[in-house]
Amino acid sequence: MNARTPVLIVGGGPVGLALAGELGWRGVPCTLIEKSDGSIEQPKMDLVGIRTMEFCRRWGILDWVRDAPYPLDYPQDYVYVTGLNGYELGREPFPGRGFEAIPPESPQKRERVPQDMFDPILRRFVERSGLATLRYNCELVSFEEGAEGVRANVRDTVTGRTETIEASYMAGADGGASTVREQLGIGMSGTPALTYTTNVMFRCPNFADLHDKGKGYRFIFIGPEGTWLTIVAVNGGDRFRMSIVGTPEKINHSEEDIRAALKRAMGRDFDYEILSIMRWVRRELVADRFGTERVFIAGDAAHLMSPTGGFGMNTGIGDAVDLGWKLEAAVKGWGGAELLASYDAERRPIGLRNVSEASRNLRRMLSTRERLPGPEIFQSGRENDIARKEYGDWFAAIMRHEWFANGVMLGYRYDNSPIVWPDGTPVPPDPSHPYTQTARPGARAPHVWLPDGRSTLDLFGRGFVLLRLGRDPPAAAAIERAALARGVPLTSVALDAPDVLAAYGQRLVLVRPDGHVAWRADAEPADASALIDVVRGQSSQVTQHKMGRTS
Ligand SMILES: Cc1cc2nc3c(=O)[nH]c(=O)nc-3n(C[C@H](O)[C@H](O)[C@H](O)COP(=O)(O)OP(=O)(O)OC[C@H]3O[C@@H](n4cnc5c(N)ncnc54)[C@H](O)[C@@H]3O)c2cc1C
Repeated sequence: MNARTPVLIVGGGPVGLALAGELGWRGVPCTLIEKSDGSIEQPKMDLVGIRTMEFCRRWGILDWVRDAPYPLDYPQDYVYVTGLNGYELGREPFPGRGFEAIPPESPQKRERVPQDMFDPILRRFVERSGLATLRYNCELVSFEEGAEGVRANVRDTVTGRTETIEASYMAGADGGASTVREQLGIGMSGTPALTYTTNVMFRCPNFADLHDKGKGYRFIFIGPEGTWLTIVAVNGGDRFRMSIVGTPEKINHSEEDIRAALKRAMGRDFDYEILSIMRWVRRELVADRFGTERVFIAGDAAHLMSPTGGFGMNTGIGDAVDLGWKLEAAVKGWGGAELLASYDAERRPIGLRNVSEASRNLRRMLSTRERLPGPEIFQSGRENDIARKEYGDWFAAIMRHEWFANGVMLGYRYDNSPIVWPDGTPVPPDPSHPYTQTARPGARAPHVWLPDGRSTLDLFGRGFVLLRLGRDPPAAAAIERAALARGVPLTSVALDAPDVLAAYGQRLVLVRPDGHVAWRADAEPADASALIDVVRGQSSQVTQHKMGRTS
């Protein structure tokens, strides 16, 4: 007999694990297959963004993230240098992750936890639910999608044994070279090669003693040719990642090139051990579709972006959260016929938005190649100190767009989603910084501290939440009845704190299971059933809603 599962997830990177964890948290069983044994040779991501941290809060795994072994006090400075033993052009100081302040717009802050620490946390989260079957050394070879489900042919990468897994739905979180995307025949659009970059992981326990720039998270090296190299403190200890940034011209850096780059960066020979070398292409690509009726793609399978900004995994985890509640609704039967199609409508625009912002950050980092530093930047002398300061200040101001990006992380909105009911207010701007919270339908529901010490965000997640706000809040019985009649999980919460009403703008606000606002008004709509049908993706109402919107 073939194995059967409601949801088959392909790929056990951070996005596949987050989706399996999210489904387990929702009480939906799934099977995750990963072709490798799960070990990570070279961690890629290390910035767990503020929105991902809000999800970790919802999932109840904040302690695990806090207790990750990246030291809490390791300074997170960004330092712009001509060399580690050369001149410092500028610096953006940040404290260690244990000391960064929580911003007013969230109950959380970003964290520095590299992939070889974060993937095990997500894996533990998946295992905690007891509902996910994790299968390592298991590769998706091919699949067929039918009206009733998906049949996936998989292969054990150790024994070579093949078998079939049947699933109602399948999600490809299988990375940039996604088999799922390829076999669906989905193309990717954008720029296939921004730079050919070489990453080198090296061990150097006394790195900070070899120069006078102190400890920092990222050193950006600027030579006469502009920005050419970065070095990142991967674990806040003995491991570092050097990236030879490269250009759109194809290049294969030899080990000799790599050692020469390390010597140039330090200004002299020093002792280190090369742990791994990864040659990769920085891309700006988004899949032309995010899936079909029963098969979806998420994470790097759906969008590939420059790491500048740390948006890649964080965008992918946003995909997982959007897809998670919709799959729950489909599996449990309360989702409408167009609910799963809204995944593409909501997440593809966010993919396009975030790949563009990542490329803008890359251009910012490489702006020194347009405005090359003059020879005086590399020569001693008081006059040259002034020139250095001026150049460094200019670069530091440009780079702040990347370091302060809560707007990118928190401000993504599903403005034109077919399952969001607009309220007619004008579309707000979408700046990367500063970020202003809004409860306009489609936006992430705002964070406000409640008198009992909880965040409004702590109310959301399991099902829909209908906020009834202000003194003497409006009735919501018709909405509650309509949800009950369709099996849609909905809880009403009355809150009279004035700052919650101020942040949410209207007295009735319907928040979806993913924490985005679906609808808001000061009183119940004339047809509460129509509202519930739109937000659960029931086709006839969604179609009418769309027609009403375009007329
Ligand atoms: C240098 C660098 C730094 C980065 N820093 C950050 C950062 O700070 N923050 C951030 O958010 N992002 C960052 N990123 C991007 C981030 O690493 C990726 O976006 C993220 O890893 C994508 O996760 P994923 O799960 O979608 O894909 P992947 O991590 O690529 O995982 C896909 C998995 O699918 C498996 N797989 C593939 N094919 C099959 C198959 N046929 N069957 C079974 N399994 C299969 C693979 O073995 C792999 O484990 C960085 C990237 C780079 C290169």
